[in-house]
Amino acid sequence: MKGRKKDEWEQLRDRLMVTPRLVWDLVDQPTREAIMAYGERYKTFLDLAKTEREGVTEVERLVQKRGFVDLNSKSRGPKSYYNYKGKTIVLTLQGRRPLMDGLRLVAAHIDSPRLDLKQYPLYEDTDLAFLKTHYYGGIKKYQWLARPLALHGVILKADGSRVELKVGEDPADPVFTVCDLLPHLARKTQMDKKVTDAFEGEKLNVLAGSLPLGDKDTKERVKLYLLKFLEDRYGIREEDFVSAELEVVPAGPARDLGWDRSLVGGYGQDDRSCVYAALEGLLTAQKPEYTCLALFYDKEEVGSDGNTSARSCLLEEIVELLLERQKEKAAGRRVLMASRAISADVTGALDPDYPEVHEKRNAARLGYGVSLTKFTGHGGKYSANDAHAEYIAWLRRVFQEAGVIWQASHLGKVDEGGGGTIAKYLAVHGLEIIDCGTPLLSMHSPFEVASKADLYMTFKAYQAFFTAPGE
Ligand code: MN
Ligand code: MN
Repeated sequence: MKGRKKDEWEQLRDRLMVTPRLVWDLVDQPTREAIMAYGERYKTFLDLAKTEREGVTEVERLVQKRGFVDLNSKSRGPKSYYNYKGKTIVLTLQGRRPLMDGLRLVAAHIDSPRLDLKQYPLYEDTDLAFLKTHYYGGIKKYQWLARPLALHGVILKADGSRVELKVGEDPADPVFTVCDLLPHLARKTQMDKKVTDAFEGEKLNVLAGSLPLGDKDTKERVKLYLLKFLEDRYGIREEDFVSAELEVVPAGPARDLGWDRSLVGGYGQDDRSCVYAALEGLLTAQKPEYTCLALFYDKEEVGSDGNTSARSCLLEEIVELLLERQKEKAAGRRVLMASRAISADVTGALDPDYPEVHEKRNAARLGYGVSLTKFTGHGGKYSANDAHAEYIAWLRRVFQEAGVIWQASHLGKVDEGGGGTIAKYLAVHGLEIIDCGTPLLSMHSPFEVASKADLYMTFKAYQAFFTAPGE
């Protein structure tokens, strides 16, 4: 009798309480294999897409192979892409309904925190050659010291010719580094200071060479050696750096992490985990009811300013192009007002070493699936898109029907800090939007950590969203 009562309470618990669901507990063997296989494809993508330019090039290459045509060309088809300035790319997949019924958008960003070279970067000091940088996005500066770095980017010469550069990724390549002070001499300069004061942006100088040219009377001969080398190798001279975009990123590939290989460690998972999930989600979306767009924006990490960002007019332009192509007379604004969107971005996962910054009941946990974040921003819900309850209810239904394992989360304790995404910039068009993406540990570091289970569930979530019926 007593035992039976206990069962009833357990049933009541199951029915009424939220139980966090560890993905690994719930998936069968074929799904486990699909998770691992997805992880392999994902790591390859991370390695080929370390900068926004490389990301756009790789996405374009992959979708061209799958029959996507340039939206700006004369070719017509249900699948198209729009490459904007090589830094932002949008994929479209035609749905059965007219555009005026609304679109399904998954919007991620393809830029990541890094060090950018300044326009006169090269100098010599103490018979060593260095490159001056300005950091891009939110970094903890000390994480970039004393580690192998690679240089990626483009140099445009005044005659219009273009040099593409990627040094430090092939095991045979040289790498670069930012030196750090030895602990023996760091007491006053670093150890006794606040972390924000101890590491100066102006000291993030990249060591690039040490061979001299000429004899001891030659001025700046280490710098001269490198300039001669750059002329011989790339046909450039110092002034060409002015019209270059060279990005310093952590060298080396993404790796399996842990003996059980359940995690991925690597650079740029904010936000390429969501980019790749949206890409595979769109490529595998079968006969969607609504026209689907995957948008991979630039400049999110620096506040979405500029013409390749989520605040640009690119989305409106694409809607106009689609309307023209499908000979629909609807207003672009109405199409967007009727649309539903996911702001596909990562969130910080609960770090067991720093429980004090998290509110554990509402923190995302690694391995518990894709995260749904109703609002981002900071104290008092400032600077946030706050997704509507009606919309979240619909998404819960979509995820449930597709077997997506998800968790609701909020970044950090109230007033602990915070962060924004592009959700609020897209929300101004009147569309429904919510943040939904992969939880990460060591977010914004040179070696971010994700669970393969969460990465796969992010893909499943976007795929389900693209194909779900309206109501
Ligand atoms: Mn992000
Ligand atoms: Mn970020």
